[in-house]
Amino acid sequence: MRPFGRPLLCALAILALVATATAPPGAPAQSRLRVLATLPDLWAISRAIVGDLGEVQVATRPGQNPHDLEIRPSQIVLVKRAEILVRNGLDEDSWIDPVIESSGNPRLLRGAPGVVEAVRGLSILKVRTGLIDRSLGDVHPSGNPHFTLDPGTLPVVTANIVAGLGRLRPDLAERLEANRRAFLDEVAVAGRRWSDALAPYRGASLVSYHDSWPYFYRAFGLEELGVIEDRPGVPPSPQHLVTLIRQMREQRTKVVLVESWYPTDTAAAVARAAGARVLVLPQSPGAVKGTDTYIAHLDFLVSALAKALGD
Ligand SMILES: [Zn+2]
Repeated sequence: MRPFGRPLLCALAILALVATATAPPGAPAQSRLRVLATLPDLWAISRAIVGDLGEVQVATRPGQNPHDLEIRPSQIVLVKRAEILVRNGLDEDSWIDPVIESSGNPRLLRGAPGVVEAVRGLSILKVRTGLIDRSLGDVHPSGNPHFTLDPGTLPVVTANIVAGLGRLRPDLAERLEANRRAFLDEVAVAGRRWSDALAPYRGASLVSYHDSWPYFYRAFGLEELGVIEDRPGVPPSPQHLVTLIRQMREQRTKVVLVESWYPTDTAAAVARAAGARVLVLPQSPGAVKGTDTYIAHLDFLVSALAKALGD
């Protein structure tokens, strides 16, 4: 039996074509989200929220220094295509601003409804007071920006992302919120695993090359003895290193963390002089194979640190 004759099928096909051609631009409820994240941590978190509702690209390569980036033509292409930008805030990713200006995509300009600032509503560590000038270092001008390394910030960060995406796509708001809740549940389960792994080292003092870890230390009860790069983004003075080495010996600091995009020579010299060891750690997801989700990244950080502190 043939329920439809050929002429009817042709007419239906033409109607479908007309309907597609006349759909209002940007409005089809079925279209997939096109999200751009500035940094790999926000990329990993946004992917968990967006799931199969769209695509999430990242404007930097995992493992790159996030503070200061050269503009590449490929970034302009990503910015042109995106309808929503998830950025960190605190000037961590200000390098994206000239890219957006060159891209001619006004939807991603600062303050536009298509821009999500992950930092909104968080309390920020190491906010400077008093006179602020570039002699204090120029990469953390508005406080420490590496907040996603504390999983306790994720309820706020993910709420910001869902609110931003839902503003543009109210039709997806419920599903985005369901994805968010599932992700937060997974992080809560993993968080117990991370806390257990680091529990034997509560109160351990640590030194790092860059000031990447204050939120991570806070999350797991670790103590920051000091930072080699005492002014973020500026090489340390010899006097600072002498003082730091003395303090490390007094406190029996065992580990110096080095973010994987920095050379290890200064950190290795400090560690040697203080009787400690260097642990190179990727500060963001995806820099090491198999760590491109938020949870896999934290699993990697926690197990590498627990092993180094336990040796
Ligand atoms: Zn930094």
